[in-house]
Amino acid sequence: MNYLSTRSDPTLYSLSEALARGIAPDGGLLVPKQFPTLGSDRFCDHSLTAAAKVFLKPFFSDDALAVHLDEIVDEALNFPVPLVPLKGEHDVSVLELFHGPTAAFKDVGARFLAACFKRLPAVDSRRLTILVATSGDTGGAVAAAFYGVPNIDVVVLYPKGLVSPRQEMQLTCWGKNVSTLAVRGTFDDCQRLVKEAFAQADAVPARRLSSANSINIGRLLPQACYYVQSSLETYARTGKPANYVVPSGNLGNVLAAVWARKVGLPIDRLQLAFNANRTVIDYLESGEWQPRASVATLASAMDVGNPSNMERLRHLFPEMAAMKDAIQAVSIDDETIKGRIVADLKHYEQIWCPHTATAAEVYEHLKPADKDHGPWILVATAHPAKFPEIVEPLIGASIPMPQSLADLIHRPRSVQDIDADVSELLTHLNR
Ligand SMILES: *Cc1c(COP(=O)(O)O)cnc(C)c1O
Repeated sequence: MNYLSTRSDPTLYSLSEALARGIAPDGGLLVPKQFPTLGSDRFCDHSLTAAAKVFLKPFFSDDALAVHLDEIVDEALNFPVPLVPLKGEHDVSVLELFHGPTAAFKDVGARFLAACFKRLPAVDSRRLTILVATSGDTGGAVAAAFYGVPNIDVVVLYPKGLVSPRQEMQLTCWGKNVSTLAVRGTFDDCQRLVKEAFAQADAVPARRLSSANSINIGRLLPQACYYVQSSLETYARTGKPANYVVPSGNLGNVLAAVWARKVGLPIDRLQLAFNANRTVIDYLESGEWQPRASVATLASAMDVGNPSNMERLRHLFPEMAAMKDAIQAVSIDDETIKGRIVADLKHYEQIWCPHTATAAEVYEHLKPADKDHGPWILVATAHPAKFPEIVEPLIGASIPMPQSLADLIHRPRSVQDIDADVSELLTHLNR
């Protein structure tokens, strides 16, 4: 399988090259050159890891990593991703993506990327160093995934004082090969420092700099696997393709579902739930792509005003009619998120995180004919215990922490403050 840019550069890359590069030299995003065909009859074992190995095989073909695929899958997807029926509803289930080390779906992509990176053939003797700018959630997942991986360092930058206490805990509890920098500035400053460090990579001669952000193809491919698994399970049970509601921001999660459907898995509708950031919704309505600054909401991991994976979707669906057929989208405001968390605790005895609550709200307001069109799967992207400041006052109770998060609390802090100045980052990297 070859990968190419969404823009004009016709160069073809192997999977290993696509992983190491992250982004194409012309600024485009890397996508598979063509999609294989894999109908449900190709999958005899419907477990997550077995289905993942069948699905990913063509995407790894002809690459140095192909011989390691089974190991990579077993190592990365080592936690359950259960499909849990929603109490009292006919044919509605919740796909729980939050049973990994940092209790959000980004663990899937981050762990898979780490398992791939540690097996990439060494290019030279420099130490591979992954820079991650985070507004809160991604940094923790990447740090957890790479912690203790030999020969790779991770440097996480987050805006000091601008992440929640629980996020800060997950960003600063590492050490060893993971260093965490609290930047006196904003998330945009953190992103700028990472970009400037890449531009001045010669100033860091002992390190080969790389990134692990959400546009890396190595984060998207494993995400498709839980759509493969859950759609197969649903099809075997009901004889019908599954419909999904996906809480969305940068569109990486739903793009993985689009790819799973494209290769032939039994997936029907993909309904996107957005918070107040309406860029995609306005685009579907007007046909004009107008990225803008993000607005802050309760579902903060979805606060994206310029979703980068739209470029991959538009590459796949250049015609507006095809795009509108592929995805539908609804925006949910903060008051409605709060109301849905309160209502569904009563109605379903279910506690949503603010992101998952947008999906529950979208499901609730589907037209009756669309509901009957089920089975429906609500994608739960994070555990509510990650957001106690928001959820606990609404439900009037404390949320028990999953063991993975509880384990992190007792670890010692390891963090260094820096100014939002690239020279401080470079000094850190040259230490
Ligand atoms: C990142 C994130 C999202 C948004 O996913 P995208 O792939 O960016 O669309 C939704 N919910 C949670 C909890 C997240 O961390």
